[in-house]
Amino acid sequence: MRLSRYFLPVLKETPGDAQVVSHQLMLRAGMIRQTAAGIYAWLPLGLRVLQKIAQIVREEQDRAGAIEVMMPTIQSAELWKQSGRYEAYGPEMLRITDRHDREMLFSPTAEELFTTIFHNGAKSYRDLPRNLYQIQWKFRDEVRPRFGVLRGREFLMKDAYSFDVDFAGARHSYNRMFIAYMRTFARMGLEAIPMQADTGPIGGDLSHEFIVLAPTGESDVFYHENWLQPRDTAAVDADDAAGLEAFIDGLNADYAATDEKRDPAAEAAAGDKLQQSKGIEVGQVFYFGDKYTKAMGVTVQGADGTPITPLMGSYGIGVSRLMGAIIEARHDKDGIIWPDAVAPYKVVLINLRVDDAACLAAADDLYARLTAAGVEVLYDDRDERGGAKFATADLIGVPWQLVVGPKGIANGVVELKRRGGDKIEIGIDAAVERLT
Ligand code: ATP
Ligand code: MG
Ligand code: MG
Ligand code: MG
Repeated sequence: MRLSRYFLPVLKETPGDAQVVSHQLMLRAGMIRQTAAGIYAWLPLGLRVLQKIAQIVREEQDRAGAIEVMMPTIQSAELWKQSGRYEAYGPEMLRITDRHDREMLFSPTAEELFTTIFHNGAKSYRDLPRNLYQIQWKFRDEVRPRFGVLRGREFLMKDAYSFDVDFAGARHSYNRMFIAYMRTFARMGLEAIPMQADTGPIGGDLSHEFIVLAPTGESDVFYHENWLQPRDTAAVDADDAAGLEAFIDGLNADYAATDEKRDPAAEAAAGDKLQQSKGIEVGQVFYFGDKYTKAMGVTVQGADGTPITPLMGSYGIGVSRLMGAIIEARHDKDGIIWPDAVAPYKVVLINLRVDDAACLAAADDLYARLTAAGVEVLYDDRDERGGAKFATADLIGVPWQLVVGPKGIANGVVELKRRGGDKIEIGIDAAVERLT
């Protein structure tokens, strides 16, 4: 992409109404614009990152055996009356009336709809276990939308729903999502700690919130310092229910809990290894048994012909919130420092002198070669000063900067700089090789 033809409305000044660094940087880097409280337009650079995050989430859901679908955002109140949540959900649910005075709503989550759709398609125990998911916009009329995409009203969520015939199966489904979440967040360069979370009236201990530690987080969290070490999940076989359970039990032996689930005995045992911090909830896994299937009268035929009420779990990831969380974790005074896996482009190609024929020819050639090799290049071909180009490149946080200038080109070299790291002089061919 040539920057001279792109839509990248960067801001020089930090917008006064943005309190946290991720919100400030997303506005300054031309990634989003607020259109109403907690509602954002996604501009080209922001959309690219959103799509990369969503794709990692999708790949790990698929790998875990979940099956992608897409449900409507606008739903009939009817379904929600069946489960009792139409009344219970409260003012966070955006309620809409259509022209025939029918009650509708913008989905804040989708247990009822997935339960109904599943019921329609599953007749017997052979149709279980299944896990269906979507990556779809949600709306919650948050009382205090703030911090940009970290707490929006409209936000992109991955939500998955598992259906099993018995508790052992349901637990395995839960554990599959648990490990998928660890893999998902690690691929984005995030250290997300699974913490015991409140299960509300359902009870039990099968709920975890995945929390990214950050001073700007809204959750108060408590954890054993062992969690500060990265966990390797590469060798875990998610199809081996017992092995997976043992692995997760091993992880959970290290205490980690949100403030609603603090455990004084476990905290005493952790002693001076206990840490306290603020954190951002980037995902949650939750087992709730027959809560919806029972309320909505869902059964399938068991092996002996008697009806079985499927047991469910639901599993959310804040796809748009993740972008804010990644920036909170990875930035410096000049801008964002994207992990490679979610960066909007791999390289910014900077031509320092568009009026110099040799520079122009070399930069055009590099752009053509890298693009042909499938490298995602943002080519700063604008007629701007070098300083402005470097500032933009640093702000938008692309991992590599490839700089073409008159002195270097006279000697057949360019500069290759890692965002947030070192720079080297390198031959043109060697630079192409490095980046492909
Ligand atoms: P929170 O405690 O932050 O209000 P939640 O527990 O209400 O979140 P869930 O119902 O667990 O949210 O939804 C699944 C995921 O969706 C959350 O883990 C979070 O990452 C994301 N999410 C929830 N609310 C928002 C929001 N207002 N803006 C952006 N992402 C959100
Ligand atoms: Mg909430
Ligand atoms: Mg929460
Ligand atoms: Mg939650």
